[in-house]
Amino acid sequence: MSVTIVGGGTAGWMTAAALSRLLPHQCEITLVESEAIGIVGVGEATLPHIRGFNERLGIPEAEFMAATRATIKLGIEFNDWGRIGDSYVHPFGTFGNARGAVDFHHYWTRLRQAGLPVDDLQEYSLGVRLARANRFDFPSQDGESLRSTYGYAYQFDAMQFAPYLRGIAERAGVKRIEGRIVAVERSPESGDVTAVQLDNGRNVGGELFVDCSGFGSLLLGRTLSESFEDWSQWLPCDSAVAVPCRTETALSPFTSATAMGAGWRWRIPLQHRTGNGYVYSSAHLDDDSARAALLAVVEGEPMAEPRVLRFRAGRRARSWSHNVVGVGLASGFLEPLESTSIYLIQQAITFLVELFPAGAASPSDRDEFNRLIDLEYDRIRDFLILHYHATTRSDSSFWDYVRTMAIPDSLAEKIELFRRRGRVVKYREGVFLDASWVAVYLGQGIMPEGHDRRADLPDEAALVAAMTALRQQIAAEVAATTEHRRFLDHYCPMRRAA
Ligand SMILES: Cc1cc2nc3c(=O)[nH]c(=O)nc-3n(C[C@H](O)[C@H](O)[C@H](O)COP(=O)(O)OP(=O)(O)OC[C@H]3O[C@@H](n4cnc5c(N)ncnc54)[C@H](O)[C@@H]3O)c2cc1C
Repeated sequence: MSVTIVGGGTAGWMTAAALSRLLPHQCEITLVESEAIGIVGVGEATLPHIRGFNERLGIPEAEFMAATRATIKLGIEFNDWGRIGDSYVHPFGTFGNARGAVDFHHYWTRLRQAGLPVDDLQEYSLGVRLARANRFDFPSQDGESLRSTYGYAYQFDAMQFAPYLRGIAERAGVKRIEGRIVAVERSPESGDVTAVQLDNGRNVGGELFVDCSGFGSLLLGRTLSESFEDWSQWLPCDSAVAVPCRTETALSPFTSATAMGAGWRWRIPLQHRTGNGYVYSSAHLDDDSARAALLAVVEGEPMAEPRVLRFRAGRRARSWSHNVVGVGLASGFLEPLESTSIYLIQQAITFLVELFPAGAASPSDRDEFNRLIDLEYDRIRDFLILHYHATTRSDSSFWDYVRTMAIPDSLAEKIELFRRRGRVVKYREGVFLDASWVAVYLGQGIMPEGHDRRADLPDEAALVAAMTALRQQIAAEVAATTEHRRFLDHYCPMRRAA
């Protein structure tokens, strides 16, 4: 099977590296990219799933982290979201010690409702406490250990990631062609794409095409006219201004997302610099004001001119159409609040590998791919909307809009269930599991009125004592863990210029 990948950004080279390593004898891969067009290159924060992707490709972690100047990410710190002055961490991990059939927050709710002395739920998460203390060591594989209750991802330099993967893919036989695609050829009978034509006159054919052409969506959108489902009524942010700066504060092992007047700003510390950006709604703020607002709060000397990016929340009605599979921005985009874009790329690649056709793709394979990727998008969409909607902020027209907007029924039902019973809607497919929803519900101020009745079983005094002991145990673990910068210097220091 000959596979042609259109685009050499994060999506293109992740696809090329994965297909060449995971299906080495089943496809001949060609990747076309244009240096003149370039890549988005701002994806800096990831989810823990990326570690599984790297492991499957045999990528050595320390080498990868050094090459991409990566730091550790234990979660995301949200500031000023529920109310100005609030701060909580959505950790990669659980609350409590993750034992027993009933989730920890039900016991916590029970004690809180009884007026007993319990601290903020955040205090009972080792992941949160390590993040706040700027510390990191690898989690334990022993499910009985408190140290198994947190996970981690990376913050890395997106401009280094694609070239790193390119090396892997080319060593595995991927052929790269430089050139700008100016036309696309299709079979008059089937409508399938048969070749792309470059500005130098060259034609590149293929049986299967993977559209990684970015926001332009060259094959899926422009050629096949797959319609775009626009979700901007729920996720109105459509612009970002980004600027890197020198790191002048501690190297925090987490991403910060601080709510602003018309959106939010990120802060992502890497080994060699800190990434900053203000994601905003252009209906509520103009570019110059966004730029000025960001520069006013950046915590170090800017290292480049601020750069404005535009986007739209939503996805293509079908991500796999004819013989074209869209991966990355070509298939859709959800703003970077929970760092889900690279995760969505990874999932699309995983589904493609699992459903990789032996010859012509069958409609049932395509439908299954689209069902799976649509579920991922839908669940992330609801999770993102929750952050905006669950707020009491009324200090700007932006917050008034998101606080009062109609939300999807699927999310309204989830919120209602949590508010009444502290229950998180369970699902098998989709990225954010119970603890993530709990972190954001509580962090944004949605307190459950009830709890799982099984949490009434333990004796009250014993439960209070167990909570106190857990806090002490967490404090001892934090104290015994390495400072983040020291961990990086020891494990994966980036090569510095001589
Ligand atoms: C403001 C912002 C912040 C973000 N932050 C994060 C984050 O923290 N975490 C995260 O996971 N994701 C983040 N993302 C998303 C992330 O940047 C993208 O998912 C990722 O870069 C993948 O991009 P891509 O490869 O699909 O497209 P691109 O990077 O745009 O690559 C497109 C490729 O297609 C090629 N191409 C296009 N047209 C043609 C043509 N005509 N001929 C030849 N080649 C062509 C280009 O040369 C390029 O190689 C962010 C995005 C934005 C906008």
